[in-house]
Amino acid sequence: MTDTLIKVDLTKSPVENENIHNRWHPDIPMACWVKPGDDFILETFDWTGGYIKNNDSADDVRDIDLSTVHYLSGPVGVHGAEPGDLLVVDLLDIGAKPDSEWGFNGFFSKRNGGGFLTEHFPLAQKSIWDFHGMFTTSRHVPGVKYAGLIHPGLIGCLPDKPMLEMWNKREQALIDTDPHRVPGLANPPSPGTAHMGKMTGEAKAKAAAEGARTVPPREHGGNCDIKDLSRGSKVFFPVYMPGAGLSVGDLHFSQGDGEITFCGAIEMAGWVHMKVTLIKGGMAKYGIKNPIFKPSPITPHYNDYVIFEGISVDEAGKQYYLDVPTARRASTPSST
Ligand code: ZN
Repeated sequence: MTDTLIKVDLTKSPVENENIHNRWHPDIPMACWVKPGDDFILETFDWTGGYIKNNDSADDVRDIDLSTVHYLSGPVGVHGAEPGDLLVVDLLDIGAKPDSEWGFNGFFSKRNGGGFLTEHFPLAQKSIWDFHGMFTTSRHVPGVKYAGLIHPGLIGCLPDKPMLEMWNKREQALIDTDPHRVPGLANPPSPGTAHMGKMTGEAKAKAAAEGARTVPPREHGGNCDIKDLSRGSKVFFPVYMPGAGLSVGDLHFSQGDGEITFCGAIEMAGWVHMKVTLIKGGMAKYGIKNPIFKPSPITPHYNDYVIFEGISVDEAGKQYYLDVPTARRASTPSST
């Protein structure tokens, strides 16, 4: 039987679990170690660490403190992994925990960062989805049932110190171009809500002040949100730290191409069964600085569908020239 190396208790807060972290920092100690060729299971919280509840109110989506997310399981150290190697991760299987066969989807409130269409959908909304094996239905979206494709929204390895410093510098430069924008152009370190795995005391406080937030995706992987990154997929991660430090979380039952509402997947807690191997010196050998994802040979066939035609005219009746975002928005029945 495959070992479950990280377990999560969904009745407890993720900050009580020393194998969970919500920042990226090279000093976060490994939660556990494996050898190349090993396969193992990691359980995960949903990305909010259980803050969003299975009920009919969107107040939790409205009120969530987004500096708390994402809660990741790891880091897993891989014996023999050195900077310059490629860590090859096979996603062998992914599933829901038996005590949590549901997920949620939400629109963030404009007051809380909003989504890409926050001008048009400014209020928080939430739908709860129940899982029936590979299918899902929602009491909030009657008449809809479809097959999901469970995948991690977030998977990556630890950065080294120079890389972390580079991230903080370049993201702050972007924030400085429009510091009061909502949503913010990037997220600076936010030590108050940092959970750094096994770290405690002064070392934790120092690392928390520098720890990179889990958005956006970066050279080490991270918040990639690739909807086809499901069981059967393979990922090649550049290794920047000895042991690599692989972490995963933010499982999605299903997601479209992009997360337009900002919480646009069906978010869930669950488990990931994976296998790791190494390609020594792979970064230089293949000229790789960012992760490479190879999708699964298995995907659902969404071949029963209708097409909504969009036109380049906005809600106020103004004509635009070949404006794809306007046409896309105008094609959505709920937006008219
Ligand atoms: Zn997510």
